[in-house]
Amino acid sequence: MAERPYIVGNWKMNGTRSMLAEARAIDRSSQRLMKVEVALAPPFTLLHAVHREVEQIGVGAQDCHPGADGAHTGDISASMVSDAGAKFVILGHSERRQDHGETNTLIREKAEAALSAGMRVIMCCGETEAVRDEGKAESFVSRQLKASLPERIESVTDSLTIAYEPIWAIGTGRTPTVEDIEAMHRTIRTLLVDLFGAEEAEEVRILYGGSVNAENAKELLSADEVGGALVGGASLTAESFLGIVIAA
Ligand code: PGA
Repeated sequence: MAERPYIVGNWKMNGTRSMLAEARAIDRSSQRLMKVEVALAPPFTLLHAVHREVEQIGVGAQDCHPGADGAHTGDISASMVSDAGAKFVILGHSERRQDHGETNTLIREKAEAALSAGMRVIMCCGETEAVRDEGKAESFVSRQLKASLPERIESVTDSLTIAYEPIWAIGTGRTPTVEDIEAMHRTIRTLLVDLFGAEEAEEVRILYGGSVNAENAKELLSADEVGGALVGGASLTAESFLGIVIAA
């Protein structure tokens, strides 16, 4: 597995220009923490401004349209987010699946568009609490991922990151046990090896996401097969986000 942990902040629908100071502070401190790869996904409106503000950390988008530039009012294409400075796109997040009815097929198309535009994809997956209670979390996530990932990806290691985010853990303060995370990450690794071959798939980082904070980060990130974290609420201030980066 890749050695440098990858800590990605997902600002979701938060952030006005006043938050550029947080991005700057995260960037400055991350320059001293070279052992961790740090990135932020601000909303579209701040993408270019954050890109200009930072030197060390990666910047990405939270979505992109699957198609080419054209007559799609309110949408943003992969080439447009790339032009604004995005190096990756978060796709398949449960909030987009739920709030916008995004299907696995649409997510796959978006992933293909992002990869064609030269960006990395952070592909999210995760089960509901009901699915976990039924004991079907691993089979559900495997099917969801298989249907959302493009069938062919060139240099998988450099272009793909997976984020396992159980829906019931997002923004709730609840987290799965380390054993449950490890079991899920092993299942995902097996699927990636099946899909893309051992050589490439072994190096793909599998992040954990869902209520990660400075207090629990050390334990969650030390779990087997956990290559980093996708962080929502705790990425909104430099202080709380850097607490996680330092713990990594
Ligand atoms: P959270 O969100 O850290 O606020 O739980 C994680 C995510 O949805 O990426």
